[in-house]
Amino acid sequence: MDSKRSAALFAQARELIPGGVNSPVRACRNVHADPLFIASARGAHLKTVDGEDFIDFLGSWGPMLLGHAHARVVAAIQRAAALGTSYGAPCEDEVELARVVCEALPSVEMVRMVNSGTEATMSALRLARAFTGRNKMVKFIGGYHGHGDAFLASAGSGVATFSIPGTPGVPAETVKDTLLAPYNDIDAVRALFEKDPGGIAAVFVEPVAGNMGLVLPQPGFLAGLRDLCTRYGALLVFDEVITGFRVDYRGAQGRFGIMPDLTTFGKIIGGGLPVGAYGGRADIMAHVAPQGEVYQAGTLSGNPLAMAAGIATLEVLRHSDYAGLESRVHAFVMELEEILRSKGVPVQIPHIASMFSVYFTEAPIVDFAHVQTTDQRLFEAFYKQMRAQGIFMAPSAFEANMLSFAHTDEDFSKALDAARSVRF
Ligand SMILES: *Cc1c(COP(=O)(O)O)cnc(C)c1O
Repeated sequence: MDSKRSAALFAQARELIPGGVNSPVRACRNVHADPLFIASARGAHLKTVDGEDFIDFLGSWGPMLLGHAHARVVAAIQRAAALGTSYGAPCEDEVELARVVCEALPSVEMVRMVNSGTEATMSALRLARAFTGRNKMVKFIGGYHGHGDAFLASAGSGVATFSIPGTPGVPAETVKDTLLAPYNDIDAVRALFEKDPGGIAAVFVEPVAGNMGLVLPQPGFLAGLRDLCTRYGALLVFDEVITGFRVDYRGAQGRFGIMPDLTTFGKIIGGGLPVGAYGGRADIMAHVAPQGEVYQAGTLSGNPLAMAAGIATLEVLRHSDYAGLESRVHAFVMELEEILRSKGVPVQIPHIASMFSVYFTEAPIVDFAHVQTTDQRLFEAFYKQMRAQGIFMAPSAFEANMLSFAHTDEDFSKALDAARSVRF
């Protein structure tokens, strides 16, 4: 592949945009590659500015479960755009998207639209703190909830009872109330509650972790969190920004049968436009302004284009064959794992619904500490050789691949052929 124009654009971009990208992982630094600039996308395929065709395994990091430029979604956006792009006053589609979301997830009785997943989790945290009158929050090591200050804490050493900001620019006092536990470690969460029984406002969890690479919840983990939150009067917040409408139309909460108090959304519910949302129990959501006292606002929130794209996307998804896609992805993953194993490398490919991650390790993955021990050199070799053969995968072992209903059997078999010729 000859990515001359991508390279030229990246050189210009680095002069004008920090790192040349508007979101860091896009720069592909983890795998020591340069980003590709995309000119267009359709179905499961991307076309670069150099005219190269890629099978897209990244799905814009999650939103594109229907594939790119789905005819129904494009038509809905075009229709909406012709009617004006922002009103600063309510529109009918806001009510409709709220209704669709509330109908799909029984735990969500009321919902507020925002513009990104980051905004959704920041707002849900403020609401949880106001509702409980408590300040502390539990999150999981390697869990990602957007770039809000309070969430950007990583572990110190051992079980962290105090947090260290994961980035300069976040004052230590901003994350001092962020408590950390290893994913899947219910005993660690119990210990945090026992230490401060009346201090924890909320537990934030990705019900399927998708931002440390894909890590599945162990049996009993999510139910254990539900029990602890109920017992100690804390709110259980499922961050379903990835999993909402992806692991199941009813979200991870529907799939695993757990009722959180609050849920955050993003990615899919905007059909590829910038949207987030948070919702949950009506008695909690009633505290959001102007019904209640917790301030949260947005000039473009409930944007008519985004609402139209979201409604069209969810309408198609409601009639989509999730089980069929999951079994095709399962078959693909089993074959991919066998191909890689036959090359003598250790490999684990956890997967659920349309998500999977490729880890080069023998040990089954249960938390972020495990993920960090996986072989990054093998991953880089795999990523680069797949990309050189036209397969566009998540450019880091700490990210998940996101497949779509647009992926054909031919796309899968091309990816398997590419994997067969990888050399380690
Ligand atoms: C992507 C993501 C976010 C942040 O959403 P943005 O729209 O990128 O701000 C939050 N939580 C989870 C689980 C995510 O995957």
